[in-house]
Amino acid sequence: MKNLENKLVRLVKRPKGFPNEDTWKLDSESINDLSVGEIIIENLYISIDPAMRGWMNEVRSYIKPIEIGEVMRAGSVGKVIHSKNKLYKKGAFVSGWGGVQKYCRTDGKGFVEINSKKNDLPIFLGTLGMTGLTAYFGILEVARVKKRETVLVSAAAGSVGSIAGQIAKIKGCKVIGIAGGKDKCNYVVNELGFDACIDYKNESVLRSIKRECPDGVDVYFDNVGGDILDSALIFINRNARIVICGAISQYNNSVVVGPKNYLSILVNRAKMMGMVVFDYADRYSSAIEEMNGWIKKGNLKSKEDIYVGLDNFYNVFQKLFNGNKLGKLIIKV
Ligand code: NAP
Repeated sequence: MKNLENKLVRLVKRPKGFPNEDTWKLDSESINDLSVGEIIIENLYISIDPAMRGWMNEVRSYIKPIEIGEVMRAGSVGKVIHSKNKLYKKGAFVSGWGGVQKYCRTDGKGFVEINSKKNDLPIFLGTLGMTGLTAYFGILEVARVKKRETVLVSAAAGSVGSIAGQIAKIKGCKVIGIAGGKDKCNYVVNELGFDACIDYKNESVLRSIKRECPDGVDVYFDNVGGDILDSALIFINRNARIVICGAISQYNNSVVVGPKNYLSILVNRAKMMGMVVFDYADRYSSAIEEMNGWIKKGNLKSKEDIYVGLDNFYNVFQKLFNGNKLGKLIIKV
């Protein structure tokens, strides 16, 4: 095998608050051999996710923290370019945890083959990947939405929120989004078909939920936490379900602020439930098949926001938190 020059983004220190650029180092290393059972994947697209912020903290979580010096953890799709593993043929497209790097040398564990054309790969990081699956199981299995219920979704123009709201619409719900800025709200209503969208950066969230949800909220699908979660809690109905999918407003805080209005859960006999998509791994393929069917029928729209180059990692990472993007955030290597 000829020598490969890998380019990789390493975590070099644990950030406090919002990470500075020197949290990571763009590095290079040579890959010049391959053991039996291993493959080399050329990463083509890399998923940039809010969860990356949490993976850098040295705390007990649903997954172990990234070690200092390790390549930055990330989902990826790529092509097998060398294989000494019977399960993966050279030329196959695969998705898995390839990391923020050009080449990934691995025993293949945790990777799955994708039957797709090269140009169609990004959707397997979004709607037909981790974020779409989170929305699917969050809405259908955790919230168990019912026809005609009112579903409120935060970060509604984002990767998870946009799919969560559309699936709730497919199931016959009234769906209200919350997103930052007029353009995103217009997109959520006009392109994705939500019934309304609240611009939390320019209007009072409390007044707007009251206006858009006159019959109260049956399901609140929360991606952001903080004040928006507190506002939603005021309007929940009896037996409401609150899905704690994420809390991006808290990820850079050293002290996480929890909900002040939690007694509304008691009063309304509601349920607040955390979820982690990995718990549904044995059902991913049937979920992907169903979502693919909705896409083909035109009932589910997918949007990927793709930026080019590993050198751009820090700029792209910041977009998760400043909201300067639409849909699933991806780096094309
Ligand atoms: P995303 O929504 O595509 O991107 C993040 C969005 O969050 C930004 O575009 C921004 O949108 C919004 N945001 C950022 N800071 C905010 C703040 N302080 N207050 C309100 N909104 C803020 O990201 P995603 O990949 O779809 O993830 C959404 C959530 O799901 C995250 O919390 C993530 O950690 C979680 N997640 C959970 C699981 C699981 O298994 N539980 C799996 C995947 C993702 P605006 O421009 O609208 O502000």
